[in-house]
Amino acid sequence: MPSDLLIRGGTVVLPAVGSVDADVAISGEAIDAIGPDLPAAGEEIDAHGLHVLPGVIDAHVHFNEPGRTDWEGWDTGTRAVAAGGGTACIEMPLNAHPPTVDAKAFDAKVAAARASAHVDFALWGGLVPGARLEELAERGVVGFKAFMCDSGIDDFPAADAEALGDGMRRAAQLGLPVAVHAESPARLREPAGTGWRAFVASRPVEAELEAIAAALDLAREAGCSLHVVHVSSGEGVELVARAQGVDATCETCPHYLTLTEDDLETLGTRAKCAPPLRTRDEREALWRHLAAGRIRLVASDHSPCPPAMKEGAFTAAWGGIAGCQSLLGLVLERLPPAAAAAVTSANVAVRFGLPKARLEPGADADLVLIDMRERHAPELLDRHRLSPFAGRPLKGRVVRTLVRGTTVYRDGRIVAEPLGRLLTPTKGPA
Ligand SMILES: [Zn+2]
Repeated sequence: MPSDLLIRGGTVVLPAVGSVDADVAISGEAIDAIGPDLPAAGEEIDAHGLHVLPGVIDAHVHFNEPGRTDWEGWDTGTRAVAAGGGTACIEMPLNAHPPTVDAKAFDAKVAAARASAHVDFALWGGLVPGARLEELAERGVVGFKAFMCDSGIDDFPAADAEALGDGMRRAAQLGLPVAVHAESPARLREPAGTGWRAFVASRPVEAELEAIAAALDLAREAGCSLHVVHVSSGEGVELVARAQGVDATCETCPHYLTLTEDDLETLGTRAKCAPPLRTRDEREALWRHLAAGRIRLVASDHSPCPPAMKEGAFTAAWGGIAGCQSLLGLVLERLPPAAAAAVTSANVAVRFGLPKARLEPGADADLVLIDMRERHAPELLDRHRLSPFAGRPLKGRVVRTLVRGTTVYRDGRIVAEPLGRLLTPTKGPA
């Protein structure tokens, strides 16, 4: 039987391997075949001159729905993901309300996502004092997120060493990883002023290093897989990479790879995040670690808020960067396509046990077609479009995004009804 759809003549990018000129045949939701000169199908997409990558899986987004949909939302957030070449995302347990700390909250978030998500989604559960990790695991979270310092959200309290260690022991029994926001409260200071310099100085690299070291010790003791989110410093990456006797990985974000603290002068609060942007030396160290495989994945940490919360004094404004649409384009600035596909897609699926990002017959046809000859500043599709990357030309133009064989994004527009499906781990972290 002929396939339903043939992507003809593209350069297919195999994560961490390289590229091959090939056609991709799709039937229903799955890949049928990848190879040269495949037979005609019901419908054909001409991909000559385009790269065909596995869809981005953004491992770290905050869509805030239900409860704070005025900050973002599943509809607008996943529009931006799809426009950036994303076919799935993993959403954080905060800043929606209620936070995802029990089965009831999990169900409420899944209902909201099913109603309006344009890409597939998985959920992180929250590791806070009193969280019901067992019932969250039963529902299918990919792991548990903890804050080692104040999260900025009252309903998501920090986990101190005792709570974190206890949570890690339970997570280990459940076979799931724990993700930490690593900044040690003991090393954070009150900002001595209200501007960006005071804010940056109040959250030094040492706070990150101390927290990472503590989290590694706790995870080793608990036998728990550890994932350190949004590492901002080269030394932070080295701590994770050097760790013995513990399954530990880390991620960084496009903003740490492409911006520095000096950019805060012009970008202002839209580039405020925690840990804060660092120096040029740190930025370059992160690229070196990324190229060397010491950073397993790059995620956006898309965390927007209403415009009013970005106004006023720098130190008082909401910290969080909107960037899920720019993730792939910014990584492609300095990584070749196969390496970019590894850190934005394949490595994410493997690390969190998701059945995605495989370019082989029978796998979900989650693909993005990119014109790598172009630099392009896309129209942003997230709710508030208050990104430090707004107007910045990105490497490559996303031409089309397919989720399980359905074109959801094409030439600047979302072209399908919401179809997002809940993804749950099919194996343990690796
Ligand atoms: Zn985050």
